[in-house]
Amino acid sequence: MEKLSQLVKKLITKIDSNDKQYSISFIVDRSLRIPALRSLLINELSDVKEYIELFYIVYFLLKGDSYEVAEFKSKNDLYYLSLEEISDSDYIDIECEDCYGDGSMDCGECDGEGTEVCHECDGEGKVDSEDDSDNECDWCYGVGELECNYCDHGKIDCDYCEGDGYVQSENEFVDLNTEFWIYYGEDINREINDEMAKNDYEIIDIYDILDNAKNRGSVYLVRTENQSNQIEMDDFIDSYGDYDEVKGKHKVTGNHQLNDVPYNSFRIVNTGKSYKIG
Ligand SMILES: [Zn+2]
Ligand SMILES: [Zn+2]
Ligand SMILES: [Zn+2]
Repeated sequence: MEKLSQLVKKLITKIDSNDKQYSISFIVDRSLRIPALRSLLINELSDVKEYIELFYIVYFLLKGDSYEVAEFKSKNDLYYLSLEEISDSDYIDIECEDCYGDGSMDCGECDGEGTEVCHECDGEGKVDSEDDSDNECDWCYGVGELECNYCDHGKIDCDYCEGDGYVQSENEFVDLNTEFWIYYGEDINREINDEMAKNDYEIIDIYDILDNAKNRGSVYLVRTENQSNQIEMDDFIDSYGDYDEVKGKHKVTGNHQLNDVPYNSFRIVNTGKSYKIG
């Protein structure tokens, strides 16, 4: 691990010679982007836990820590945070209760059959003629049935949703986006817990904590899931408090030492634009 992290550090700094601050996301992307280095990492590292450790070791090395200190920090002081971002609120389309989302219903005139008994021949297919012989009914061509005038093959548009299958919800819904972060530091962990304690619903302004000068660069966004949940406004207020007060903030759903988290929930992802852990 030591040799590998020194090598990663060397290769990353070689590309960018200007004296810059290396963020953890930069290190992850750069390391995985260099093909030779990527193959080496794939060969040497067994799981994503080791990737995360390695990248943080490199991060701390670049900050000037010795290898021992860098290794200790990345083994013991990384945290995994899951959050719900309180996003926009709006009316949403919900499944029509009358047609269960179908948009159509059985025609009441023909009971969904699509055909009616021919009114001309009463379903006989024949009509009496003047010379007493049976004539084929002109209306139904002898079939005895006519296509129902009110529907299309037994189906009519649902009245309630006008054939859409969905209707606008009566109440507004709040979008919740799920986010997963990795961060370093006992003190950030404390800050998060302190902030949570201040709010009845454990809602915090996460950027206030993670995005300040001290922490910037050491925080890694693992994954975002937009509109991962939508909650009706009344239910929202019960579990999150006043919407206008908490909009844009985050509810903490989990804050653990990274070692306590099952690593099989992560993998290396190529987004096309960049490589990341996700
Ligand atoms: Zn009909
Ligand atoms: Zn007929
Ligand atoms: Zn409907």
